[in-house]
Amino acid sequence: MKKGLIKVTALCASALICAAALAGCGDSGKLVMGTNAAFPPFEFTTSEGLVGEFDGIDVAIASEIASDMGKELEVADMDFDGLIAAVSTGKVDMVAAGMTANDERRKNVDFSDTYFLASQVMVVSADNTDITKAEDLKNDKKVGVVLGYTGDTIVTDDLQIPEDKITRANRGLDVVQEVKNGKLDAVVIDSATGKALAEKNGLKVVEDPEAFETEEYAIAVKKGNTELLDKINATLAELKASGKIDEFAVKYNQ
Ligand code: GLN
Repeated sequence: MKKGLIKVTALCASALICAAALAGCGDSGKLVMGTNAAFPPFEFTTSEGLVGEFDGIDVAIASEIASDMGKELEVADMDFDGLIAAVSTGKVDMVAAGMTANDERRKNVDFSDTYFLASQVMVVSADNTDITKAEDLKNDKKVGVVLGYTGDTIVTDDLQIPEDKITRANRGLDVVQEVKNGKLDAVVIDSATGKALAEKNGLKVVEDPEAFETEEYAIAVKKGNTELLDKINATLAELKASGKIDEFAVKYNQ
């Protein structure tokens, strides 16, 4: 009798362990977010992040989505340029990377509702006086962008800055540092990130709302994955209604 009881208990215990292992390690228990964690305040690394070393507005939003789904959030950090492919091929479930929803990207992924509005800005040295509008970049200026960002498209296609004047990096910080050491005249980058990086490096931000239109940040999923998209949109709607997204923006902008 006693022996039987022990056996049953052991069986239950191992069943529980299996269930826990499945929930913790199996695909179904995790929500994998692809991002490029060099884009403060949306995603960056820090010693004690919200998810491992990762933190930021997007990580906070994705954590809420995962928790509403009863899943654990995992962050997959990669070059911004590889994110669309990663979500299209199912390597990650979604992309939360301060990504601007645009028609070019819509060919390959589906986007959630907008959760943040931004625009491009120019980061220049604090004493710069000859860059006051986007057109000024055409006057022989050396311009830095992040590879594959909307800033890259604007500088390359819209402003048509000559190739030999453009420096492309994988991280905003790398080109911003080149402005600091005088190798570049300006970096064209998203507003919140530009402001954060300028402040940290003693540089200034120049805005030109006429040249740089409003961009809508949204979360990307694999084309046709409406099941996940609906869940993402439901959480985003809740976060917007409760003012939590604004709270995250304030928190991570400090
Ligand atoms: N919003 C810009 C884009 O989508 C930059 C995003 C990012 O770097 N993480 O291209």
